[in-house]
Amino acid sequence: MALAQTEYRFPCAQCGASLRFAPGQARLSCEYCGHEQPIPQMDDETRVTELQSLDYHEAVANLLPEAQIEEVRLSHCDTCGAQLEFEPNVHSSECPFCASPVVTDTGANRHIKPQAILPFRLSEADAQARMAAWLKGLWFAPSTLAKYARSTGRLSGLYVPYWAFDVATRTRYSGQRGTYYYVTTGSGKNARRERRTRWSSASGRVERQFLDLLVMAATSLPRASIRRLEPWTMADLQPYSPDYLSGFRAEAYTVDLPDGFEIAKQRMDEQIRADIRRDIGGDEQRISSVNTNYSDERFKHLLLPIWMAAYRYRGKSYRFIVNGQTGRVQGERPWSWGKIALAVLAGLVFLAMAFYIAEIGGY
Ligand SMILES: [Zn+2]
Ligand SMILES: [Zn+2]
Repeated sequence: MALAQTEYRFPCAQCGASLRFAPGQARLSCEYCGHEQPIPQMDDETRVTELQSLDYHEAVANLLPEAQIEEVRLSHCDTCGAQLEFEPNVHSSECPFCASPVVTDTGANRHIKPQAILPFRLSEADAQARMAAWLKGLWFAPSTLAKYARSTGRLSGLYVPYWAFDVATRTRYSGQRGTYYYVTTGSGKNARRERRTRWSSASGRVERQFLDLLVMAATSLPRASIRRLEPWTMADLQPYSPDYLSGFRAEAYTVDLPDGFEIAKQRMDEQIRADIRRDIGGDEQRISSVNTNYSDERFKHLLLPIWMAAYRYRGKSYRFIVNGQTGRVQGERPWSWGKIALAVLAGLVFLAMAFYIAEIGGY
């Protein structure tokens, strides 16, 4: 089988070492001799054309032009299910998501090619500084955590796969509008004003055009914590070029397009329900039926940059994630029960002393 294996090792023209993409700059640079090579930039018109989204139904029916499909060789982590670009020269790599050592080769896979990429803006040193600041602000974290941060522990620079959906929605709804009114109950001394709600039926239509609605196309990171890395500045999106990947790893999508669209629908639904409540008006709203029609469904497959550290603490794995574009930090953290117990004890001692002083003051 022909393997269109992606090769990101750009040899340096001067010394032959591997060039790496320099975060925040439109160039590759050589760590050894300092040689720099600019990444060719497109003019705005070409850029806009290249960044055009693809038709969702064509993709689901497997009718995308062959130019949008690539065959890649992937590594699979048996522990957490992550799939990464296979690196032929790296033998014993650790899974960047869960720090487990076993990663197996899945062979070739047909995939939708990424259309666009948000190149790294933060360097590894920048990301480490953000992580250290975040750790410093943590209460009741085990001291080993701070030690880990100081000693680290390189961060992994990873591109995470996303689906970005453009969808037009029209929704018919029915529900009820609640209006408050007040009645006086009881009489004389016992008279009280009470709030009541009068309900009347309401129905109508709302419309919304969603643009670049993001859904992570992998399950290796918790969806909630990756969502807290938002917002991403989509204006910096570049047409996909392997140049931006040199020196970094890319995760392949494991949530396919239809499943991604289902998740997008849930996100759209949250927004649509908020629109409906606003449309119903009044003081309170009840929604009894929502009927949404989706059209002009289009999508882009994107790669977004994160810096990450995974570490194991007492048999569990934890992660720090830093938005490689904005520097926003998200982390899972162990709690130090020892420190919490000490703090509770200190609090009790403080209280006891406060009482004691109050007692003395009373005399
Ligand atoms: Zn060089
Ligand atoms: Zn893993």
